[in-house]
Amino acid sequence: MQRPKKVPLRKCVGCQQQHAKRELIRVVHTPDGAVELDLTGRKNGRGAYVCRKMDCFKLARKKKSLERALKTAIPESVFDELEFRLEGALAADGQS
Ligand SMILES: [Zn+2]
Repeated sequence: MQRPKKVPLRKCVGCQQQHAKRELIRVVHTPDGAVELDLTGRKNGRGAYVCRKMDCFKLARKKKSLERALKTAIPESVFDELEFRLEGALAADGQS
């Protein structure tokens, strides 16, 4: 019997559930004040995570959870890109 590997968990700002990092999309507030999607998970800055699910994204957007998590305003373009990625992710199962 194989012991399951420990996977890093992060909390989704939409549903508030813990999920494996790779199942989430990271939004990062960079040291120079920009807010962007971090698809590699390696960018510097404060990060917030949302599931690769449209429902979580919509919830997070509606409740301004990303704004609160990152303590900054989220540009409309970031929401647009996130939405675009999620629509893509639903069709093509998340390859990295
Ligand atoms: Zn979620």
